[in-house]
Amino acid sequence: MERTTCCVVGGGPAGMVLGLLLARAGVAVTVLEKHGDFLRDFRGDTVHPSTLALLEDLGLAERFARLPQRRVTTVQLPLGPARSLVTVGDIGSLRGPYNYIAMVPQWDLLDLLVDEARREPSFSVRMSTEATSFLTERGRVTGVRYRTSDGRTGELRATLTVACDGRSSLARSLPELGLRTFSCPMDAWWFRLPRQEGDPHGLVGGAGEQFLTAMIDRGEYWQCAALILKGTDGRRRAEGLEKFMADFTAAIPWLADRVHTLRSWDEVKLLDVRLDRLRRWHRPGLLCIGDAAHAMSPVFGIGINLAVEDAVAAARCLVEPLRRGDVGLRDVRAVQRRRWPTTAGTQTLQRFAHKQVIEPVLTGQPPFGDARRAKRIMERITTSRWLNRVPAYFLAYGALRERPPAASVR
Ligand SMILES: Cc1cc2nc3c(=O)[nH]c(=O)nc-3n(C[C@H](O)[C@H](O)[C@H](O)COP(=O)(O)OP(=O)(O)OC[C@H]3O[C@@H](n4cnc5c(N)ncnc54)[C@H](O)[C@@H]3O)c2cc1C
Repeated sequence: MERTTCCVVGGGPAGMVLGLLLARAGVAVTVLEKHGDFLRDFRGDTVHPSTLALLEDLGLAERFARLPQRRVTTVQLPLGPARSLVTVGDIGSLRGPYNYIAMVPQWDLLDLLVDEARREPSFSVRMSTEATSFLTERGRVTGVRYRTSDGRTGELRATLTVACDGRSSLARSLPELGLRTFSCPMDAWWFRLPRQEGDPHGLVGGAGEQFLTAMIDRGEYWQCAALILKGTDGRRRAEGLEKFMADFTAAIPWLADRVHTLRSWDEVKLLDVRLDRLRRWHRPGLLCIGDAAHAMSPVFGIGINLAVEDAVAAARCLVEPLRRGDVGLRDVRAVQRRRWPTTAGTQTLQRFAHKQVIEPVLTGQPPFGDARRAKRIMERITTSRWLNRVPAYFLAYGALRERPPAASVR
């Protein structure tokens, strides 16, 4: 029988950070990742100041700084006249060494974390291994059944199983965890355009005819995300790629010389944007964190950050019980209790941005519509240097800063 102390399902940001922190604290941990590598481009790239500070605590700041990256110091939304971009968070104005968001392809960050974790004797990662169902005994989750890409199957038993397998998590099939979904006004198209010398750097946004775009500078190319009204993908595709490219160029004229490199709709992937959270993140023997517990909207680009913070909080609450080999319901409940206000608060702000900014812009209306008070508050925030630091701090560190357990720090 295969056994470990903590079985982590999913090697995304939440799973890899949790695996590294627990292994450094001497806990036997096995991460199961269904893909053979981390090289998927259908991912976000933002590494926020809270994660940069974590990497420093873990002694990884220098290695991280050597990764190819771009730095972004402001977050902007299309709130100005003719929907021009207005700064809603000036992270550059914050004190401290990490007053920027680093744009690093997620696979580079994950490779760094897994390399570091592999130095720990109590860590193991099994790539190309998919958890297919939970093992249960008298109501307690005792591990997982898995299948490898070459068709082999097996069972891995564990004192605790942590679901870090994203928004289609296996755990979401458990009815007692109760999924609460919120309506989302948009979906996203995800495609690439070449970058050229003289282009701007970092994160570039724009608003066009019923779409919003954010483009991530990945060195040789722009990873573009275009937000469109939910449910309009089929209709807009039927209107033709040419029409979309003309709209896109009207919004961002300096891309006119290369939009033709996009040859077919096959190169434009659709992301079904979702906003939801589990009412309960746990049951005996099982904890859910990251997107598995709460899928975030792309607004504020904060999903990776929250997933990492969940993992840090989980490591802090669980290192001692895992070392003792006795993880009770109280221990896993403590993780949800700690992370709930930040998660629910962030989702409330995202829903506010959906209703007051995204939906109006995508339907050709002015942001905020009749909500004059909200508009006034927003104007005060965006025009005052001091008030601007509040959203900046929130974007940088979230509502609650999480510190890794002392045993994981180097
Ligand atoms: C196109 C796109 C763009 C985004 N842009 C941004 C952004 O700019 N900034 C930002 O902060 N967030 C962004 N996000 C959201 C962000 O990527 C997620 O919030 C974050 O990755 C969540 O981390 P996670 O570890 O919880 O889950 P995931 O990153 O989803 O990782 C889950 C992992 O589990 C693995 N897995 C799944 N099922 C199983 C199984 N049964 N067995 C084993 N392994 C399994 C998957 O292969 C994956 O590696 C974006 C998301 C998408 C899709």
